[in-house]
Amino acid sequence: MLAVLAPAHAVCYSRETRQEVCVKKVLVTYRDIPGGRLLEELEESFGVTTSPTSDYLSRAQLMDAVSDVHGLVSLLSERIDGELMDAAPHLELVANYAVGYNNVDVEAATERGILVTNTPGVVTDATADLAWALVMSVARDIVIVDRYARSGSWKEWKPEKFIAADVTGTTLGVIGMGRIGRAMVKRAAGFDMSVLYYDPARLDAGTEQSLGVRYVSFEELLALSDFVTLHVPLDSDTFHLIDAAALAKMKPTAYLINASRGSVVDEKALVRALATGTIAGAGLDVYENEPMLEPGLAELENVVLVPHLGANSRRTRDRMAGMTLENIKMALSGGIPPNLVNPAALVNRRGA
Ligand code: NAD
Repeated sequence: MLAVLAPAHAVCYSRETRQEVCVKKVLVTYRDIPGGRLLEELEESFGVTTSPTSDYLSRAQLMDAVSDVHGLVSLLSERIDGELMDAAPHLELVANYAVGYNNVDVEAATERGILVTNTPGVVTDATADLAWALVMSVARDIVIVDRYARSGSWKEWKPEKFIAADVTGTTLGVIGMGRIGRAMVKRAAGFDMSVLYYDPARLDAGTEQSLGVRYVSFEELLALSDFVTLHVPLDSDTFHLIDAAALAKMKPTAYLINASRGSVVDEKALVRALATGTIAGAGLDVYENEPMLEPGLAELENVVLVPHLGANSRRTRDRMAGMTLENIKMALSGGIPPNLVNPAALVNRRGA
């Protein structure tokens, strides 16, 4: 049973019931979604249902819960596909609480006239901060030396112990020069790094110059960078973009940073590359089968593992919630939501 958070009248009755109050229904799939007062603020305008506990809804519960809703607030861990949309005949909007929306079948939504929104921009700095923390952690072995310091093994200071890689003055390779990629460039400037980038959408010369970045091919970037950082969306072109062949092109002293989506990297190939010294190390925030780790990954010393926390700062979560609210309010009142990812759905928009 889903908890009904809204007051009893706050549901959308059909005209036939001749109820005076008619508000649309929104399902927030996860009760403890962080950021401001999203649930309370939604309740001011909509009939809101959500998960009864801090557990995620099962697929069966989700299928059942969408049957009468107009808006859906989804998380990146939920598969929002055509089957689910078919179980939601009134669904007008999927408001994904994330900038990445690879969990939503956007094509299926567009075919059905369902709008899809995300939360771009507000996650940029927090995600770049975390990716930068990974750069620093892998280079300076922060996790290893922290463990050493607190274990009691530190008996005397010796200059030859824990000599680490340099960050300042090295070369950063950014794959995907969008919002987060550019935020990485800003951080790299403080470390006097040379920045190479690869993106099928090349920047214009003026922007390249003002950012101080050099465009290279994918292969050149892999061969020349000391740190390769991934900031691409996950789609059919970027699935396993970093595979065994790509890893083999990197320097044996180089590090891979992934704070995009797990499946951008072939994790089996990465475990082999880390174990055999093909590359020096990796810093990961995302994984192919979250929350499962590829066998062998956790045993490796030359990888720093973060449990998908890129956007997890207080201010970011508040802004994501605010943006989600704005998208829902606008879409369910017939307007065009500010963060619409499938404008083609407007043509045969539901509820219009
Ligand atoms: P963005 O759309 O601003 O930038 C993505 C860039 O990748 C674009 O410039 C695009 O042209 C480029 N790109 C697409 N295909 C490419 C390819 N094959 N090779 C190289 N570049 C390619 O997106 P953003 O806001 O910078 O976010 C990027 C991704 O980061 C999101 O899609 C999301 O999956 C991920 N993300 C993860 C976290 C986290 O918690 N770890 C948080 C936020 C975003």
